[in-house]
Amino acid sequence: MTKRVLVLPGDGIGPEIVDEAVKVLDVLVGEFDLDIEMDEGLIGGAAYDAAGHPFPESTREMALEADAILLGAVGGPQYDNLERPLRPERGLLGIRSALGLFANLRPAILYPQLAAASTLKPEVVAGLDILIVRELTGSIYFGQPRGIQVNDQGEREGFNTMRYSESEIERIGRVAFEAAMKRNKKVCSVDKANVLETSELWREVMERVAKDYPEVELSHMYVDNAAMQLVRAPKQFDVMVTENMFGDILSDEASMLTGSIGMLPSASLNGSNQGLYEPSHGSAPDIAGQGIANPLATILSAAMMLRYSLGRADLAERIERAVSAVLDQGLRTRDIMEPGMTEVSTSAMGDAIVAALRAG
Ligand code: NAD
Repeated sequence: MTKRVLVLPGDGIGPEIVDEAVKVLDVLVGEFDLDIEMDEGLIGGAAYDAAGHPFPESTREMALEADAILLGAVGGPQYDNLERPLRPERGLLGIRSALGLFANLRPAILYPQLAAASTLKPEVVAGLDILIVRELTGSIYFGQPRGIQVNDQGEREGFNTMRYSESEIERIGRVAFEAAMKRNKKVCSVDKANVLETSELWREVMERVAKDYPEVELSHMYVDNAAMQLVRAPKQFDVMVTENMFGDILSDEASMLTGSIGMLPSASLNGSNQGLYEPSHGSAPDIAGQGIANPLATILSAAMMLRYSLGRADLAERIERAVSAVLDQGLRTRDIMEPGMTEVSTSAMGDAIVAALRAG
């Protein structure tokens, strides 16, 4: 059955990098038997400019009907003085909550060809391929009660609540185990069970979920140790699953292991495999309109979309092989340029990926 993909270019470099991902998808439709229909919509500052709101009703309706959404990025300095509900970032929050996207998947992959971009020694990171699965809608960022109040001693105190129900833990656990089944079949669950009751329950539920995936090896690690292990020996990990705040911090740490933000895709999923796919970086207003942005994070986000929402892991792998082939050819956008390589524009990089796709 034809799947529906909503394309939301957004702001800054968003339209430039999304154009390249759409170019790749068009080739897959025309030549590789991909059965999708793409619609385009407005989000972020572009939506505010055109429709007065960063997440207009028309976009919400299209998003709810789509099987998957491919997004560029939102934001820009021209919107910084808008009142908070109209800021571009509110468009992202709006779409996440409209679709109930509770699972954030962020791979940290370092192509061996780019090992020099990392601040860590090449032998520690070359070939790195970790997937961080972060719970996105619960825990201390959303838990009630929260606030700032005056305590019995007349001093102000701030408080937040870390809270997880068994069902919330179970559903993110299942996303991690399912992802591990498509990879190297190892899940490391990160918690702070030596101190936090929330983590005690987290660990118990992860053990229970693991029983349904006998092929997957489950291990547990305290978050402080996980932060250390990520810089000491990151290649020990396959899938890491963790709660919202720990995941916020660890996924940024992991992405920096690779040193090249223009290469990192992400996915946010709900329980019915509907997903929002976007590069991990922002709208890069400093380089917008110059044709020098790296489109690979967005193209790799399209690959994740094929794998997780469109049931075409074969085509996802094809894109990933094409990216590797193009790096082997020495083609680089400016952000990952090194001496001896050939610098190419955003659209030339997209063309090179298309050529590599066709070459197999
Ligand atoms: P950023 O990720 O946009 O840029 C950080 C640096 O990385 C910049 O120097 C930029 O030129 C470079 N960069 C980023 N993506 C690149 C790419 N594909 N190719 C080459 N270079 C790239 O972060 P920022 O500067 O802190 O934020 C800029 C705007 O983006 C802000 O308005 C912010 O709110 C927004 N933002 C949006 C998202 C999102 O849409 N998901 C995420 C983060 C930031």
